[in-house]
Amino acid sequence: MTTLKWSEVYYKPLNLYAYSGTADGLSVGDIKIDFDKPVNFEDRNDEVSIDALMKSAFWLRQISSDSCQPQLAYHVFSATHRPSYLETYFPLVKSLDKDSRHHFHETITKVLLHLGFELQLLKLARVSTQGTWSSSTSTLKSILNYPNDNIFVDCIRVNPAIAYLVAGHIVELFFFRQDFLDRLLQSKIHILLYTDQDSFKADGGVAGGCYNPERGCVQLVVSRLFEGFNQPTPGVFPFLHEFGHMLDFFDAGTAKHELTSSGWLPGMRPSDGEIYSPEARKTFIAGKRLEMQCYDRQVENPDGTDPLPIGHPYVFQSNSEFIAGYLEMFFRNPHYFAAQNPDLFDGFAQLFRQDPRHYWASDFPFYIEQNRAFYHSGQRPRPSGLKLETD
Ligand SMILES: [Zn+2]
Repeated sequence: MTTLKWSEVYYKPLNLYAYSGTADGLSVGDIKIDFDKPVNFEDRNDEVSIDALMKSAFWLRQISSDSCQPQLAYHVFSATHRPSYLETYFPLVKSLDKDSRHHFHETITKVLLHLGFELQLLKLARVSTQGTWSSSTSTLKSILNYPNDNIFVDCIRVNPAIAYLVAGHIVELFFFRQDFLDRLLQSKIHILLYTDQDSFKADGGVAGGCYNPERGCVQLVVSRLFEGFNQPTPGVFPFLHEFGHMLDFFDAGTAKHELTSSGWLPGMRPSDGEIYSPEARKTFIAGKRLEMQCYDRQVENPDGTDPLPIGHPYVFQSNSEFIAGYLEMFFRNPHYFAAQNPDLFDGFAQLFRQDPRHYWASDFPFYIEQNRAFYHSGQRPRPSGLKLETD
């Protein structure tokens, strides 16, 4: 038996080693796991079957051509179906009492069962070379027992663990705004995940992930769901960024996904009806105005002196990037965000009825450092593409 301390290993990727067509063993970080004996987590008083862990790791490795290597926490959840193992992906859960945690998981189940939640996993036939299936594609076909050439499957059915993770991120965002979640589900929450980068590109995916207004869906390579979680405190969060674009394009008043960016989050426009919050709109505008002023000052004179904008020049390209980028920073560096721009922070906090500072001991420093480094570099940022009030 391999005995591990959960609190020290949950965020480390689980690897298959000495792989030669069949998997020979598993390792977590540099710890090898005894084959054919269960893994014991001493600080959780729990045992997990090695076969189930192996199956989970092997499945993802096969379908993703090795590009997707999730953390132990994901695989243990996938092997045991015990939701508490996945909670480290949702920092909010730390602040919830027992009943609320239970409600959190119930809400995830509700999303998964809702017809308005559509999550698909794609591997496109046309990425195979010379019209024949690449070996990983034929493996996928056999694993999924999928008869057709275009592999386009219901992720909730073929891999409920990934679906649970995605739904959990959505529930974390809307845990205190069930009304927002209901409006989105009333329309549709459509997410397309891709097994690998080639499939993503072949299906029109842009950059590292994107929101596609024509199809009304988020497009993301599956490995990107896991990339920010290789340390005890979560980091980059591409899924939330792309989901932020979806919110920007969503008209909460009509419950429709529009073809153009609105520049608002749901609840910020009078036309949003019952969920409209004039207070959130007011503080959002005041906060966005301050960010634009700080940014324009750097465009005029790139001297890198405070007050600097919180966001990187990338998010000043358009109103939609502003929403997506600041939403991500609200949930990853809330302390810095709130100190730099209390109004803008309040706008988000009022809208989502939560303050991530309560469950976030210290900020994820990368976004802060990277963004400040740009303004300190002396480069002149491009003129902003933002508008203050877009309706
Ligand atoms: Zn973006």
